Amino acid sequence: MSPIYLDHAATTPLRPEVRDAMRTLLDEEYGNASSIHRWGRAAAARLEEARARLAAVVGSSPAEIVFTSGGTEADNLAVFGLSRLRRGSVVSSSIEHRAVLGPVQRLREEGRVVPFLDPETDGSVREESIRSALENGNVALLTLMWANNETGAVQPVEAAAGISEEARIPFHVDAVQALGKLAIDLSEVPIATAAFSAHKVGGPKGSGALFVRRGTELTPLLVGGGQENGRRPGTVNVAGAMGLAVAAELAERERVAETARLSALRDGLERCLREAIPELVVNGVDAERVATILNVSIPGADAEAMLMGLDMEGIAVSSGSACSSGAVTPSHVLRAMGLPPEVAGPSLRISLGRTTTAEDVDRAGATIPVVAERARALARV
Ligand code: PLP
Repeated sequence: MSPIYLDHAATTPLRPEVRDAMRTLLDEEYGNASSIHRWGRAAAARLEEARARLAAVVGSSPAEIVFTSGGTEADNLAVFGLSRLRRGSVVSSSIEHRAVLGPVQRLREEGRVVPFLDPETDGSVREESIRSALENGNVALLTLMWANNETGAVQPVEAAAGISEEARIPFHVDAVQALGKLAIDLSEVPIATAAFSAHKVGGPKGSGALFVRRGTELTPLLVGGGQENGRRPGTVNVAGAMGLAVAAELAERERVAETARLSALRDGLERCLREAIPELVVNGVDAERVATILNVSIPGADAEAMLMGLDMEGIAVSSGSACSSGAVTPSHVLRAMGLPPEVAGPSLRISLGRTTTAEDVDRAGATIPVVAERARALARV
């Protein structure tokens, strides 16, 4: 039986169209986009083509796109780059990805006040808590993710953008899990910066971008050459940039149809697991969620035992639990939603994508309850 990959929120397989577009740039148009000669000019033209194509997908102008080495760098550039120019607190949420939590925590160590907004039990931060955080005191930056990578819960980014615009506070959005899954039109949403990553949408790993709205001041993370208008020095990865642009274009083109197809598969899997496992908790079920993520807790089972058991059955999923220094700790996202450790701990994140079929989901629906029961029996001895 062929293995089943249900970990698309971690990374996705490279799309063939992306590979083709990148191969030309790696094999033939390999010049340094900063060089004056014809190889350089050809690479520079392709880089600007990638910039324009990505900008068209997200509703920005090409000059507002800065290519980076991925989502983590884009988030770091925004959080450090925006906050270091301003005094005041940095308002964030407790369910951010480590790519945002890391820099925000670093700022806290440096003496910044960092209020973390908690979500409700559905996994979504409320507009009112954003409003009151921005009204209370001197805020240098607001940062909030668009869609959560563990639960899929969509955050009130449009509302937060309106509030931050009114308060004249720069707003950074981690849009890594929203690209290709939610409608994104940055010409309509007044945010300062937004982070994207290629490998979550069928593009290559190590390629991402930061949208920086025209007129937004930002200090670079790196110092070196003047590439990307000095905002991101370093020879630009033109193939990676094109890979991101092509992958984003395709994901956006298929977004509406894929959302319908995958939410039907996700809901079917959810029903099937609920029937087989009466104690099942579906995390984030009451929030608006991206179609691709199903996060469930199976009380009494050990997350690691389930992951290993599923892997042995050829099914790849991940756990809401982050593995740090060898110890499995309950997910910070599920804990922030108020789940007790015995529910937050035994959680599985099942994430669907372009290559997921109805057969894959059926097999996962039949196998997960068996593996969970085995893990529970193991935990009892
Ligand atoms: N932000 C979110 C919400 C993510 O899910 C990820 C990837 O796991 C990142 C940021 C980091 O992106 P990258 O892997 O490109 O560094």
